[in-house]
Amino acid sequence: MAGDLLTAEALAAGYGPVPVLHDVDLRVPPGTIAAVIGANGAGKTTLLRTLSGMLRPTAGRILLDGRDLRGTPVEQLVRRGVAHVPEGRGVIGELTVEENLRLGALWRRDRSDAARALDEVYQLFEPLASRRRHLGHQLSGGERQMLALGRALVGRPRLLLLDEPSLGLAPRVVAQTMALLRQLRDDTGLTVLLVEQNVRSALAVADQGIVMSLGRVALAAPAARLRDDADLRHAYLGF
Ligand code: ATP
Repeated sequence: MAGDLLTAEALAAGYGPVPVLHDVDLRVPPGTIAAVIGANGAGKTTLLRTLSGMLRPTAGRILLDGRDLRGTPVEQLVRRGVAHVPEGRGVIGELTVEENLRLGALWRRDRSDAARALDEVYQLFEPLASRRRHLGHQLSGGERQMLALGRALVGRPRLLLLDEPSLGLAPRVVAQTMALLRQLRDDTGLTVLLVEQNVRSALAVADQGIVMSLGRVALAAPAARLRDDADLRHAYLGF
């Protein structure tokens, strides 16, 4: 549909000779959260890697604002507002909180806005503000998650690709993370593609649910339908 921030058309990708994604179509309107759900090995992480430019598609197209991203280097994708928070989060244990956050703004030319964005992240995540000089490896799992998200946010992304943010986190921290995503969507118009094993939490916050199975999109539907329609839930999510 015209006006989607992110579109994938007939996307295929894999690792070397091993195909993983097949014929993936998806559309994510700006200012919405799409939850990508599905069993282990369904291809969710591979989808995110392909969308963020880490993996090159073997077929199909990815469009950002209707513009084909083919051949766009990762650095250019970041400049165009695509931020990827990978599974495992990629926090650098030997750097301080502040240094990790600054990495997210290294490429930005507008230094005064980068400084403002850093302040905003500290306001959003108070525990990071009080641990500025702590090393990454001294943080708890929840704090590392905050730091990874914060590092993406200092780049003021338009599209956040978020892989398994709830992995290993206490339910309270998961709930806080989901609430934060909703707040960012509502207050700043951030668009989020969220890969989650925690289906209920993801659907609670998402606008759209994208169910993957064996490297394909089995169903893309409004999250409210997936929440409320028990038959659909049984058929596609098994609960
Ligand atoms: P999970 O929730 O377990 O992370 P997923 O839905 O994210 O699952 P992927 O991690 O995308 O699924 O994996 C999809 C398929 O690709 C699996 O069969 C996996 O074994 C394979 N795969 C993933 N990473 C690689 C890799 N680096 N090299 C080769 N095959 C891989």
